[in-house]
Amino acid sequence: MPHSTDFPIPETSPTKCCTRCKQVKTFDLFGFSEGRLRSQCKACRTEIERLKRLANPEKVRERDRLNYWANVEHERELLRVRRARSPESFKRREDEYRLKNADKIREQKRLSYWRNPEKARQRERNRRINNPDIMRQKDRDRYLADPQTRVAYNRLRKARLAGAEGRYSKRDIDELFIKQAGCCAYCRRSLSLIGIHIDHIIPVVKGGSNWPHNLALACPKCNLTKHDKTPDEWVYRWYVCEGGLK
Ligand SMILES: [Zn+2]
Ligand SMILES: [Zn+2]
Repeated sequence: MPHSTDFPIPETSPTKCCTRCKQVKTFDLFGFSEGRLRSQCKACRTEIERLKRLANPEKVRERDRLNYWANVEHERELLRVRRARSPESFKRREDEYRLKNADKIREQKRLSYWRNPEKARQRERNRRINNPDIMRQKDRDRYLADPQTRVAYNRLRKARLAGAEGRYSKRDIDELFIKQAGCCAYCRRSLSLIGIHIDHIIPVVKGGSNWPHNLALACPKCNLTKHDKTPDEWVYRWYVCEGGLK
């Protein structure tokens, strides 16, 4: 009978005949089940598993899931070992999975949050304490992906503190952006290039509201030099005292 291994097997090594492929193989090529050698060799077991998975993927997945949770610590340890052995291929597979299942992952995160919000918030706090750099980078990415939301939120919060009436949304800001053709309301430079500030035309501290009609998008320089002045006060100071925008 031929051996499936290509290294010489000592004469004394115990062998066993696989009931499926009928090959005589050494004991190490058979797996264990409940303290006994299996009757089929490892190669045959792999093949049987593969066929079973093809024939009934749902059932096998459910069985694997139950097995996983029955031996969760052991499974996690296995995963850690495998990951340490080939981190690159692991990362690549994870990235592929994340890309392919983005919606599913988002939904899982949402569900896991609402199952125990207090625990989730604690987890988030711990993550911030343990990985401050990574979390800061994530915040930055989120901010860069949608700065207007953040700008709107921050201004709203400050204005609310100042006790002004009225409110505006990201949509109002988007509409303003279109109305102003993407330019600073005061100096007409392109906002996409230099950044956007939301200016209260009549400053909140002078009784201006948060309603959209009191807002203008301005470049940082105009907004910061105008600060808490009305347009009239600002223009006066700007032209008469400081010689215009430099
Ligand atoms: Zn076999
Ligand atoms: Zn400007």
